[in-house]
Amino acid sequence: MRYDTIVRGGRAVLPERGVVACDLAIADGRIAGILEPGARAEAAEVLDATGLVVLPGLVDGHVHFGMGSPDDWASESRAAAQGGVTTVINYAQSPDSYLEVEPAERALAAATSLVDFALHCIVMNEGHLAEVDRLVDEHDVWSFKYFSNIKGDEGARLGIPGTDTGFFYALARAVARHPEAVLAVHPENVETIWRLTAEQRAAGAEGLPAWNAARPAFAEAHDIFTTLLFAQETGCRVYVPHLTSAAGLDVVRRFGASDRVHVETCPHYLTLTVDAPEGVVAKVNPPVRTAEDVEALWGALADGTIDTVGSDHISRLEAVKEGSIWQAQPGFPGVSTLLPVLLHEGHHRRGLPLERIVELTATNPARIFRLAPTKGSIAPGADADLVLVDLDRRRTVAAAEIDSHADYSVYEGRELQGWPVATLVRGTPVMRDGEVVGEAGHGRHVPRRAAAPAAQELSRV
Ligand SMILES: [Zn+2]
Repeated sequence: MRYDTIVRGGRAVLPERGVVACDLAIADGRIAGILEPGARAEAAEVLDATGLVVLPGLVDGHVHFGMGSPDDWASESRAAAQGGVTTVINYAQSPDSYLEVEPAERALAAATSLVDFALHCIVMNEGHLAEVDRLVDEHDVWSFKYFSNIKGDEGARLGIPGTDTGFFYALARAVARHPEAVLAVHPENVETIWRLTAEQRAAGAEGLPAWNAARPAFAEAHDIFTTLLFAQETGCRVYVPHLTSAAGLDVVRRFGASDRVHVETCPHYLTLTVDAPEGVVAKVNPPVRTAEDVEALWGALADGTIDTVGSDHISRLEAVKEGSIWQAQPGFPGVSTLLPVLLHEGHHRRGLPLERIVELTATNPARIFRLAPTKGSIAPGADADLVLVDLDRRRTVAAAEIDSHADYSVYEGRELQGWPVATLVRGTPVMRDGEVVGEAGHGRHVPRRAAAPAAQELSRV
């Protein structure tokens, strides 16, 4: 058989088998064969992966494209490819009906995205709540999000009606009608935060320590508790995004492992603390915490309490970070540095196995969000989404070298070891040596309905 492409000479991370020296054959955008190294086979193109490791392309289950610039799908999907991310799941966010917003967003992404994609919908009002069944059944949307931190008057700031805990419960009940759908909940108890924010501001407190004191870890733990209780009560599958703290982990562990509960953290909670020299630039919700929290999260990545790592990427400009901690906008870009941070801080510094990094960034998010077996692992029949990584390459993070709309990185100037050197989406190279080589609009919507049941056991160490 003559293949389209063969990736020769690398070591690939394969399901069940670990890091294996092999050649990968690609035909029609899919993995057609896992071959013995040097096996005789013909292909139109040969990619030399000598000295490199080959991972499944990352599935970043947590991005906010469209919040930085209207052209985000074009620019941020390029940034994704530069970071070895081949599928993004974007949080569609609008007060309008998703029955109209979702097809429009999908069409925009299909026209301009370089990498493959799927969508989550953020449920903010009664109209959205009433649309859940149709979004699952007719729009192939299987994941929803609730912001527990925009209850009451906090919603008005974002131009949406405030919700309450009863609304949250009703949403969990609605999502539970679809056993393979999942509800992501941003967990921060806003009533506590209002009071503590007033106290911090009255005391003239500033900087990241003040932001953390105003939105403390126990406020996160409080709403994780509510989320897990609602999961237990309704049978809803839940996803805890961006876990930041030992206190949050403690609640997750008290409830015990469940195939209906999934937990994510982000690179910044694994690397930054309230003492970060970046200061206000590192403002994010929930806040970055303490060195003890950072180490607790690394432990939870290794022991399986945390299932995924997502970027929470948002492409606003650094100018939104001007002023005091109380005025600056939260959030920052991260899709391009997700993998290098995990390789540098996780693999090289803490001995986190490559197999575990693959589970956290590809296999598990693909399964949880119903993109497997098309996405998330290097296996015959799966899409040939691959990232070729040079584990030894040292490079200093420079926002100027990333094609994002954002003009800064919280890791600017940091030298990291371990970088993607080529990215393939369905067999087509979209990045080589840090430069985008693919075409806008190469990305496709990933059908989720046809995928295997997501409730299967996750890959754990
Ligand atoms: Zn987010």
